[in-house]
Amino acid sequence: MRVDADFPGGNVRLGGIRKDGIEVAPDLRDTKGNWFYWNFRVRGAGGRTLRFEFPNERLIGARGPAISVDGGRTWRWQGEAFPASASFEHAFDGMVAETRFAMTFPYTVADLDEFLRGREGKGNLERQVLCRSRKGREIPLLKLGRLDDGFSCSLLVTARQHACETMASFVVEGLIDAVLADDATGQWLREHARIHVVPLTDFDGVEDGDQGKNRTPYDHNRDYGEGEDPLYPEVGEIRRLAPIWSGSRPWVFMDMHCPYIRGGINEVVYQVGSVDPKHWERQQVFARLVEAERRGALLYSPSDDLPFGVSWNVAAAGLAKTAASWMSRQAGNELSTTWEIPYANAGGAEVNVTSCRDFGAGLAAAVRRYLGERVLREGA
Ligand SMILES: [Zn+2]
Repeated sequence: MRVDADFPGGNVRLGGIRKDGIEVAPDLRDTKGNWFYWNFRVRGAGGRTLRFEFPNERLIGARGPAISVDGGRTWRWQGEAFPASASFEHAFDGMVAETRFAMTFPYTVADLDEFLRGREGKGNLERQVLCRSRKGREIPLLKLGRLDDGFSCSLLVTARQHACETMASFVVEGLIDAVLADDATGQWLREHARIHVVPLTDFDGVEDGDQGKNRTPYDHNRDYGEGEDPLYPEVGEIRRLAPIWSGSRPWVFMDMHCPYIRGGINEVVYQVGSVDPKHWERQQVFARLVEAERRGALLYSPSDDLPFGVSWNVAAAGLAKTAASWMSRQAGNELSTTWEIPYANAGGAEVNVTSCRDFGAGLAAAVRRYLGERVLREGA
């Protein structure tokens, strides 16, 4: 039997291996404090039942481990509910050569490549390179919508500023598909909106299987401090280009995240409220549009949004240095918001590829209404 994480997005720290049990833990690398991302494979265990033992109960999500038996192409949750526990068991099918386990549905550039196959060229969808990462990798940038100078507004979407927050990537896929769709939302966005997407911002972290969250000395989403030189080249490029991309026309920014692993507020979809009352008010307007346009299984209520000053959303969390905060201060920005997409449960509904994509489609429809009904009409 072999247990390892030697593949893109892989992460595990292996402890002792006994006859029926294996000690595993997240590999924290340069993370400050604890976090919970792990993603490993087991080969040669066919026919056996094994128990995977973690150091504590805060490392397995609300539906247990995510499981793949096709080399990481497709994933399912182990069950509908998984009470807090420091271990899970798995009975290995004798016919399956390799089984992967992860705390979320992993998403690396291979998944992005797979998604883009057959979509590039539609709706002007172009894949370009944002810049090279610190490790020399080419970081993808997607452009779509109205790419000539005739655009009247624009949208910038970033995801994976925290590498481990994979479920946000499926929401981004749904949003892109909505822009390409042959319906009123897609047509309007392609006619009016210049759209940029940085789908895998902390690209090194995504490919290396890092936590990304709370990276030392600070992570990507604390690299937007006013007047401070960016630490990460990709953040530097985003900061340099965002004002150019918007062309001083009205624009919306959305930064897609996942929250803590499970429990309480971490099992609902919500926006992180801006410290700036004007932007918080705009987030609430947008919230009502997202609620109205919501589709699929994931539930969302504007009342779940987290106002500034509540729970973890306080000044001490360094929120003045987030992407959303920085973007909200740039010329022409009409809405700048951070979304938290739970890992496994959203209002009791299952978070998976389909429900995330559906939610992303609803977000696109809400962006269209926000820009079309509120911004452009008011600015006309
Ligand atoms: Zn995050």
